[in-house]
Amino acid sequence: MATAVLALQGAFAEHEAMLDRLGEPWFELRQAQDLKRPFDRLVLPGGESTVQGRLLREEGMLVPLRERILAGMPVLGTCAGLILLAAQVSGDASRQGKPRPDQVGPWLGTLDATVERNAYGRQLGSFHARAEFDGVGEVPMSFIRAPYVAGVGPRATELARVDGRVVAVRQGNQLGVAFHPELDGDTRIHEMFLGL
Ligand code: GLN
Repeated sequence: MATAVLALQGAFAEHEAMLDRLGEPWFELRQAQDLKRPFDRLVLPGGESTVQGRLLREEGMLVPLRERILAGMPVLGTCAGLILLAAQVSGDASRQGKPRPDQVGPWLGTLDATVERNAYGRQLGSFHARAEFDGVGEVPMSFIRAPYVAGVGPRATELARVDGRVVAVRQGNQLGVAFHPELDGDTRIHEMFLGL
């Protein structure tokens, strides 16, 4: 079948290039009608989770995608994509006084984890690291105004840490990473996703 790549906003093209390298067919999800095409995997790219979450709701894709994820469809969420998956979202918008209602998560809310948005602050908004990723080995990790996982619920398992903070989690077929594996030319995280 094919992987659907959420293409409402953000870094979806880089994921598509990665899937091309791995010979995986893909198409873009932009509106509810696109959900009619057959797909058996989903990529949620980085970008701005508040914008992506609002558009998912407006386009009527939030509930159908949530149902498919809960039914076991493999999903890879990177950075903003991880935020969309998280059952609890904290940080940033919720800290600056009263956030607009459309800025408040959780969005898909399928992943048993608490994610802190923009967790590294402005100065450290973007950085690069290498760290051990469970089941994969040491991988390069690019963080861009990244979240981290402040709490891993009992149904989820942590896969990687950087500076003591959890940056990757898995729950069944849901894989969420705080960094951008599509940017570093290392295909192993995508291979892991395609193997789910
Ligand atoms: N800071 C963004 C958010 O909160 C995520 C950044 C990213 O995806 N690179 O949605």
